Amino acid sequence: MLEIFPMVLGPFGTNAYLLGDTRSHSAVVVDPAWDGELILEEATRRSWHIEQIWLTHAHIDHIGGIAELVKGIQPAPKIAIHPADLPLHSAQGGAALFGMHIGPTPEPNIHLRHGQILRLGEFDFETRHCPGHTPGHVVFCCAAEKVVFCGDVIFWGSIGRTDLPGGDYDTLMLSIHTQILCLPNETRLLSGHGGETTVGYERRENPFLT
Ligand SMILES: [Zn+2]
Ligand SMILES: [Zn+2]
Repeated sequence: MLEIFPMVLGPFGTNAYLLGDTRSHSAVVVDPAWDGELILEEATRRSWHIEQIWLTHAHIDHIGGIAELVKGIQPAPKIAIHPADLPLHSAQGGAALFGMHIGPTPEPNIHLRHGQILRLGEFDFETRHCPGHTPGHVVFCCAAEKVVFCGDVIFWGSIGRTDLPGGDYDTLMLSIHTQILCLPNETRLLSGHGGETTVGYERRENPFLT
């Protein structure tokens, strides 16, 4: 069974998701937003082993917990990111823009491409490139479980901001229409901020998409 444990962490109230395959006890963290030691505690409590870290994008509030998290895990988990967000990652996730600072964060060592399949236990997650909020934003889609980890592309009743460096409104809208709204209505959308929603709800109700 795939178990999903969301945690709201850090100064921007970012959703970090701890995912575990209850059969193999393998685990993945999508966007270790902040407070890496808290994420590790939750994994340890469940006897889960965190094997990989999957980043939807490299903004500071989605990568701020990586260093602490990785420090406590042997062997160190692999870190996956789309290469178009590597410059942002190297710039501490744009920390200076937000008047913040984080220490050095371990280098990602999996460079994602559109369509790449990531595995957690018996579950496949398809990487979909969804630029617009950042150039290298991706979402992770598990068709079998009808769930997408969609970072800052789309939120309950809203969409990602496009006014930060590397953002582009038309590109974001194209990503939402071609990569998210084409999924079945009942697909759950687990975003980087705020509550859970579905493709069908956003198709009907999202004021930015009608
Ligand atoms: Zn962001
Ligand atoms: Zn964010």
